[in-house]
Amino acid sequence: MSKQIYLLVGLLLGLLSACQFWSETQSPSDEVISNHANTPEAILAALEVLPEVSTQIISEEENLSSLQLLPSWTPNGPTVTPFPTSTPYNTPEPSPTLRLMPTADITYDLQSEHFWLARPFLNNSGIQTSVNAYAYGTTTFGYQPHHGVDIENPIGTNVRAVAHGRVFYAGDDLNDAIFGPQANFYGNLVVIEHEVELPDSGKPFTFYTLYGHLSQFFVREGMEVEQFDEIGAVGQEGVAIGPHLHLEVRIGDPYDYGATYNPNLWLQPYLGFGVLAGRVLYRDGGYVPDVEIEVRTPNSGRVLKTTLTYHYDLVNKDPYFLENFVVPDLQAGNYEVVVKYQGRAYTQPVEILPGRVTMVNQVVN
Ligand SMILES: [Zn+2]
Repeated sequence: MSKQIYLLVGLLLGLLSACQFWSETQSPSDEVISNHANTPEAILAALEVLPEVSTQIISEEENLSSLQLLPSWTPNGPTVTPFPTSTPYNTPEPSPTLRLMPTADITYDLQSEHFWLARPFLNNSGIQTSVNAYAYGTTTFGYQPHHGVDIENPIGTNVRAVAHGRVFYAGDDLNDAIFGPQANFYGNLVVIEHEVELPDSGKPFTFYTLYGHLSQFFVREGMEVEQFDEIGAVGQEGVAIGPHLHLEVRIGDPYDYGATYNPNLWLQPYLGFGVLAGRVLYRDGGYVPDVEIEVRTPNSGRVLKTTLTYHYDLVNKDPYFLENFVVPDLQAGNYEVVVKYQGRAYTQPVEILPGRVTMVNQVVN
C-alpha cells in the first residue's frame, strides 16, 4: 500500500475513535444502531476500493475525514465566462414506471481527473444554469434516480457537441425503449461516440454523450462532429417537464441505461469555478444513500447549494473518484460541507480550487 493509503487509514482509524468518543460522551440517546461491521479489517477492506489520491488533512476537528486532490494537470479546453448567480429551479422527469437497473460492476482504466467536455451551450445562448435540485443519481422529489444532468434553456436553443466525436445515434425512441428504460423516454435524442487517449497511459478510451428531449436534431448517424458543432435544439420531448437538455455520459454499452456516469465530473468548470465531490460512508466503508448535503459559506452559514447522495447502487460512481455525491459550479474559495444524517449534522471545511475536483469523505454512524 502506498504512503497515501496509510495516511488515509490512519486518519479513518483516528476518526473512528473520535466518533465513539463523541457518541459515548455527548449524546447517548442519539446513538445510531448500525449493523455495519466497524472492525479495522472491515475498514481496510472497504478502503481497498478507494482510488489512491494525494491526501491533504484540512482539519481534525469534529467527525471529519477529508482528502483533497492536488493539482496534477490543467484542463486544456476553452475557457468560459462564469454565468451569473441564478435562481434555482428544476425540470425533472416525472416518475415513470421504471425497471430499476442495477449497474455493472466494471473497473475502467480511468486514473485521473477527466474534464474533457465543454458545456453544451454557448455563452450567449440563453440561460445556462445547471440544475441543482435533481442532481445525478438522486431521487429528489421522489423521482427515479437521475441518470444525467438537466440544463435549462428555451425551446429551440442550439445544443452543441461537448467534444469531438462521431454521431452514434440521431433519432427518436418513440417505439422502442432503446437507450432508456421505456419507449419515448428521451423523445428525440443524439448520442455521440468519443475516443480520447488517456493522459496517463496513452491508451484509447471510448465513451458516449447523450442529449435527450431535443425538439429537433441537425446531425445524422456516422457524421463526424467537432466540439461546439450544433447537433440539435432544446425541447421537452419524451418524459420531461419544461424545456431542458438532459445530458448523459456513458461508458461501455451505449444502449445501456445502467452505463451512465456523473457528467459534472466530465464537464469543464467555468473559469474560476470548481467541483465538489464526496463520499458519505458508514464506518465499514459502505456508501450511505439519500443523505442530505449542504454547501454553506463558512461564516454566515448561508446555504448555497444542496444535494442528496446517490440512491443506492442504481447509478454508477465515477471510475476514478468513486463518489456518491457531486456539487458542481462552485466559485473557487472556502466553504463548509454539511452532511445531515439521522438527526446529526457533520460539518467540515473545504476549499474549492478553480478548474479542479475537490474530494471529501464523511463517515457517519
Ligand atoms: Zn434529466
